[in-house]
Amino acid sequence: MAWFTRQKPRISGGPPPEESGRHVRTEGLWLKCESCRQIIWRKALEENLLVCPKCDSHYRIDALARVKLLLDGDWVEYDRGLTSSDPLAFVDSKPYQERLAAMQKATGLRDAVVAVEGTLMGRPVQACALELKFIGGSMGAVVGEKLTRAIERAIEKRQPIIIVSASGGARMQEGAVSLMQMAKVSAALMRLDEARIPFLSVLTDPTTGGVTASFAMLGDLNIAEPGALIGFAGPRVIEQTIRQKLPEGFQRSEFLLQHGFLDAIVRRAELKNYIAGALEFFCGPRN
Ligand SMILES: [Zn+2]
Repeated sequence: MAWFTRQKPRISGGPPPEESGRHVRTEGLWLKCESCRQIIWRKALEENLLVCPKCDSHYRIDALARVKLLLDGDWVEYDRGLTSSDPLAFVDSKPYQERLAAMQKATGLRDAVVAVEGTLMGRPVQACALELKFIGGSMGAVVGEKLTRAIERAIEKRQPIIIVSASGGARMQEGAVSLMQMAKVSAALMRLDEARIPFLSVLTDPTTGGVTASFAMLGDLNIAEPGALIGFAGPRVIEQTIRQKLPEGFQRSEFLLQHGFLDAIVRRAELKNYIAGALEFFCGPRN
């Protein structure tokens, strides 16, 4: 037997080698930032509102976290039970009904938007946030209906409305029905405008397709988070259509601000304060 193999038995009672201290499980405690490639502590990232503490890259957050971030504490959720009736009986790689059921189970939501009423630094507001994890935050009949109802509540109660977008656009599985939501929500926003009630649109990574082409760009203020992808068609489609190379940073918040598509880029940590200030500007000091 070779000299380097253990000949005596292990001391009995000790832990088996795979459970000894040398193999502490660290999975999940640390992660590598996609943007700056540095190793960051997951807890530090979470405490920093899911913004990389090293490079300030804004990670995607879910709809409920967004509501928590903006509102003061308690809120009332509306239309929680609304769910798609699958008007086209659509089947792609699997039936739409099955896809919906799987998404509902995974996210705990019935569709891709959360609509709530609460207060933002003491001011009563309507707030909606799209959930990207639910079929790419896509807008079908339910998203369109919930947004429209929220806008109508805003008119009725004379409260400002904030909609936070994170979406791939209209929902393919609902065909023309989803495209009609663009007009429906936009028409409701026109009534809101006529009632002279402000709508603040917050565009987060990513906001594209029919959502950009309708309500997300119709805010009295269009505010984006840093580095967010915002556009209508994807860059590859545009390049192939116009046969030109697109400039650096095309369709990112900073580029859009420079070219007049956005009013402001606001870091996540300052978003609530910024919106409160903007609402004071629009509505006057709260009573
Ligand atoms: Zn980073």
